[in-house]
Amino acid sequence: MDHYSPVARATRFVIYVLAVVVPIAIALAVVGTTPSLLEKVPAEHRDTVAAIGEGAVRLSGGNGGIFRSQEANAADTTIPGVPRPLHGEWAARRPEDYPPPAGLAAGHDYSVHVTDDGHVAHWPCEHEIPVRSFHAPPGSEADLAWAVETLAFSSGLPLRYLGPGAEADRDGEGAISVTYGDHPDFWDPQVAGVGGPAVLPRGLIIQGAVTLRPESVNPIPGDPWTRSLTLHELMHAVGITHAAPYSPEIMAERSAHPPQTLLGYGDRFALHVVGCSGSATG
Ligand SMILES: [Zn+2]
Repeated sequence: MDHYSPVARATRFVIYVLAVVVPIAIALAVVGTTPSLLEKVPAEHRDTVAAIGEGAVRLSGGNGGIFRSQEANAADTTIPGVPRPLHGEWAARRPEDYPPPAGLAAGHDYSVHVTDDGHVAHWPCEHEIPVRSFHAPPGSEADLAWAVETLAFSSGLPLRYLGPGAEADRDGEGAISVTYGDHPDFWDPQVAGVGGPAVLPRGLIIQGAVTLRPESVNPIPGDPWTRSLTLHELMHAVGITHAAPYSPEIMAERSAHPPQTLLGYGDRFALHVVGCSGSATG
């Protein structure tokens, strides 16, 4: 169920991988605009296919009809003996300690990963979190750097983009790995990327992984689809889950057209909850 490396599987984890959709679907557009053809699409897929047929651009996630539920993507693997790699002043956080400001609703405008034991998943603030790319298509690094820096200054998380990593660094603990390549969830041609954290009990995130489908990434920097997709998946890797479909958030489970590249109010509050700015500690 998990999509992490053997190293990751050797640790006790909740692994939480969510998908995002970029429609690349000229053929589906025909289906989506033709009612008789749409009937051939299984009922649970029709919304998505029809939406694409309208020309709408959708970001979709783990709960989207044709995708696995978030629950289905959560795996709890236990292999004892692996030490915690991070130390310092990290402290558990409870969601009730982060009441949303007026006008924002948890679960609608934003959502963060909460562990089974009731803690907010978040990275430590005291250690640099390296972000490395693997097999990035030429030209795409600029948008990854943009996404990492946007996330860093918006959250206070000590993220640092280090550029291409050596293979030995991939899926390293204490780091976020962004791989451009295949992923088991990419059997579905609409899934453009997945991302998530590895979370220990009490919510300590010790690893993040993002996989982006290379064909979904524009090699010319500045493309809003590429930026939105990359930022969305990285936000999963810091413990943020989906806002409501079509909400004006990067983390919207389905995104309105055109794709959003500016953080919404819900996104910004979620980054506060998991981040290292303001009064947040640990
Ligand atoms: Zn998502």
